[in-house]
Amino acid sequence: MLPRFWRKIKYRYDLVGSYCENCQSFFYPPRNLCPHCRRRSKIKEIPFDGKGRVLSYTVVHDAPEEYKEEKPYVVALIELENGVRVISQLVCDPEEVEIGMEVKKAFRKYGEDGNSGIIYYGTKFVPDN
Ligand SMILES: [Zn+2]
Repeated sequence: MLPRFWRKIKYRYDLVGSYCENCQSFFYPPRNLCPHCRRRSKIKEIPFDGKGRVLSYTVVHDAPEEYKEEKPYVVALIELENGVRVISQLVCDPEEVEIGMEVKKAFRKYGEDGNSGIIYYGTKFVPDN
């Protein structure tokens, strides 16, 4: 088992979730135990391919002063192709976002994520077109 902070850093680099081989369920954020199978859990770490669509979204206008250049920004609830739902910043013009829009994950450096404070789980999404 890796120390907690290493695991966190790793998850910022990529969209890594977990998968239960026993019941074929996906989880994000990753879990150590499948809530369906419990002791029969067969949890495996897997990177998600990060394609999905927007289920709903919010345009955030009140970013803290130091992130002013980023505002307003879009935070979206995204359903990935494997059915997992992720809340993430969606990097696009707030005028452009719509329900059902196809998106994909975008890589961001750890430092950028670590400083912004507005990132959920470290992965950002961008429109996939
Ligand atoms: Zn399971």
